[in-house]
Amino acid sequence: MSARILEGKVFAQQFKEAAGKRAEAFRQKYGTAPGLAVIIVGENPASQVYVRNKHKSCEELGIRSDVIRMPEHATKEELLAKIDELNADRAIHGILVQLPLPDAIHAQEEEILNRIDPAKDVDGFHPVNVGRLVTGSPGLVPCTPAGCIRMLELADIPMDGKRAVIIGRSNIVGKPMLHLLMAKHATVTVCHSHTQNLPEITREADILVAAIGKPKFVTADMVKPGATVIDVGINRIAPKKLVGDVDFEAVKEVAGAITPVPGGVGLLTVAMLMQNVVEAAERQMET
Ligand code: NDP
Repeated sequence: MSARILEGKVFAQQFKEAAGKRAEAFRQKYGTAPGLAVIIVGENPASQVYVRNKHKSCEELGIRSDVIRMPEHATKEELLAKIDELNADRAIHGILVQLPLPDAIHAQEEEILNRIDPAKDVDGFHPVNVGRLVTGSPGLVPCTPAGCIRMLELADIPMDGKRAVIIGRSNIVGKPMLHLLMAKHATVTVCHSHTQNLPEITREADILVAAIGKPKFVTADMVKPGATVIDVGINRIAPKKLVGDVDFEAVKEVAGAITPVPGGVGLLTVAMLMQNVVEAAERQMET
């Protein structure tokens, strides 16, 4: 039997409706909109698309969105000065720096991201927010993994007591996913490029998360029948062809539920960002 397809747009719509209602309540209460500032440095074409999508979503939901464009040759000092300015701006509740940064300042990425006030760090990358996630205290959580967990909840897929396996241990997907699934009482295994006997481990998963960055890496023989498979990967294999990390056609015949690519997790990320902006704005007004 073919798997249930977890359509990103259905869940993204639900996230957006919830964020839109909260943004409206915020405007009513404080007479101002929640505000997001996105800094984009240089002309990376994929980044331009991502920033445009974020801006469009903000407009749809009545969230103020400032896009700050800096030239390819902007220096670290200029970027830090801009972040300082936004940190001090009371109308801006969320700040994000679109990655990747140009080669000349790429090595300073950590220093640049760490300059963002943790209260405004809507990407959830600041060490203070990472620490909060690890210790289980409220903070801002990276959008992609947070979106996946919210999707599982809305789809009524149980996590409590289940075996979850994550392939990938990056700071933006794999590691936060570990903590979020653990907080939902799943028993979690994280795999990476040094993992031995990977298919043996993935076949134990009730929930399998693929965040690798390799096209169709997860094949049907790696999946337990009936498992939920979340494909975070986005791989461009031709100018207009995106595929995930999962061999969707084959795996959907084995899995119980599966996210497609495109049209899956990618759509959740921007919708979750909207929630993070509203959440950050509410917290800043309450403290
Ligand atoms: P990274 O490159 O930072 O991490 C990839 C991980 O995969 C690493 O931990 C790596 O292991 C592991 N890996 C690589 N090869 C293997 C292998 N042969 N066996 C097991 N593990 C392996 O990627 P990201 O986490 O940033 O992104 C992963 C994918 O998700 C990408 O396709 C990216 O485009 C996509 N993505 C999608 C988003 C969305 O909105 N949907 C948001 C963010 C990312 P090791 O640590 O040992 O090197």
